[in-house]
Amino acid sequence: MKGTDAIIQIKNVYKYFGRLCALNKINLDITPGEKVVVIGPSGSGKSTMLRSINRLEKIDKGQILVDGKDINDRSNDINMLRQELGMVFQSFNLFPHKTVLGNLMMAPMKLKKMSKESAEKRAMELLHKVGISDKAHVYPKMLSGGQQQRVAISRALAMDPKIMLFDEPTSALDPEMIGEVLEVMVNLAKEGMTMVCVTHEMGFAREVADKVIFMDNGKIIETGTPEHFFNAPENDRTKLFLSQIL
Ligand code: ADP
Ligand code: MG
Repeated sequence: MKGTDAIIQIKNVYKYFGRLCALNKINLDITPGEKVVVIGPSGSGKSTMLRSINRLEKIDKGQILVDGKDINDRSNDINMLRQELGMVFQSFNLFPHKTVLGNLMMAPMKLKKMSKESAEKRAMELLHKVGISDKAHVYPKMLSGGQQQRVAISRALAMDPKIMLFDEPTSALDPEMIGEVLEVMVNLAKEGMTMVCVTHEMGFAREVADKVIFMDNGKIIETGTPEHFFNAPENDRTKLFLSQIL
């Protein structure tokens, strides 16, 4: 069930790269369990917005609260806050010198001080869930892109995050592997995970999104349900963008 209080609050956020305004007065509230899909042309600020939520980018103005805590307030432990946020990137970023199992066990053992036994048990459960438990002992380079991305998702889940951030998780995949990754994401959505997904997979948006956000030039130009975007987008830039991707 959705709670009433936002778990992520983005308030009047600005981010500059030199003179370029990458985030221009962004306001967005995300409630627990909500699924938000972010779309928009390349360079519109989608990644910068996601990266700002877990402070991979430092914002210049405004405020971002995760679970009520200001992520840029020095008195809040950023490492603790980051544990609440799982992130999955376009490039899978697995540790090449560790097995699949090793990839999943590392952070829980290091950061959560989980025992080897518990970490392994949890890792195997997650690998089973994403349909890849038979690959537990192989190295990432032996896996297809779709398999690697499923491992990356389960590695993020191994830290039991409250929120999952996805930045174009299927953009680097061969077309035949997109479905298996989206399926894992759809299942996660059904389990009630709070998700912010940058993706142009509109079938996924239609199936899981509570809210779709269209960004352009660092601004949120239009917000609505998937139905709104498919049937009655209002902004001309939104219409043009959708005509190009659909
Ligand atoms: P998107 O993810 O929507 O493609 P980004 O958030 O990656 O867009 O980028 C938004 C804008 O900020 C782009 O113009 C991009 O070139 C610029 N930008 C992103 N990261 C940096 C950086 N580290 N240094 C300078 N400019 C950047
Ligand atoms: Mg991007």
